[in-house]
Amino acid sequence: MDVLVLQSGSRGNSVYVESNGVAVLIDAGISARQVQVRLSEYGKSLDAVRAVVISHRHRDHIGHVGVYQRRLRLPVFMTEDGCDVVPDLDETTCHFFRPDQQLQFEHLRVEPVLTPHDAPPSLAFVVSDEKHRLAILTDLGHPFSQLPAILASVDAAILESNYDPVLLSEGDYPRWLQDRIRGPGGHLSNKEAALLVKNHGKHLRWICLAHLSQHNNTPEVAYQTYRRVVGNGEPFIADYFSATPLPSLR
Ligand SMILES: [Zn+2]
Ligand SMILES: [Zn+2]
Repeated sequence: MDVLVLQSGSRGNSVYVESNGVAVLIDAGISARQVQVRLSEYGKSLDAVRAVVISHRHRDHIGHVGVYQRRLRLPVFMTEDGCDVVPDLDETTCHFFRPDQQLQFEHLRVEPVLTPHDAPPSLAFVVSDEKHRLAILTDLGHPFSQLPAILASVDAAILESNYDPVLLSEGDYPRWLQDRIRGPGGHLSNKEAALLVKNHGKHLRWICLAHLSQHNNTPEVAYQTYRRVVGNGEPFIADYFSATPLPSLR
């Protein structure tokens, strides 16, 4: 299973997952051109992509899906509530699915996980083939009760590590936005992510910290928090401007 985070963070999100020539794109938060450019940088193309699957209706995840549908001719899978934020969506060709519904693309399975993030229904995903399981866990709200079992069941995880509490409270975001981010429907802090890995992720082959805030976090702070809490291991950190390749699961 090949995994390429094409971009991660509030400027836009998309993750490419491929197994034996069958791929899905999780989220459509970057331009169609950037998807093609970044895939080609790593020797990939859209040829293998069977579907783009949308996690929730925030723009950094769904913003470009209409173009993916029209220009890239990708089948779009999403929950129905996302329609009203994508004015150029062709609803007649959308595949609407329920948050409890598994999607199957040949041997590649996409299992949605309902999260408490504040755009219900907001989904995380476990993507699996016959051999490996990958969790894509961003926009999580808070460390909700299913996360330990998910982390214990996968080979690798892309995990939200959005903010540092001090940088958030000392930053220039208005109070209401700070409260939203650290509230139960916002995002996971660096420490919350690290604690999940420490307590439930011992056997993970790798972890990629993702959806870092540009305002309330830095890759260095996320890394140092992880190291302090987990005590060992080298997390990957998804970039918010470019693609981040991750080790293949074999
Ligand atoms: Zn969101
Ligand atoms: Zn987001």
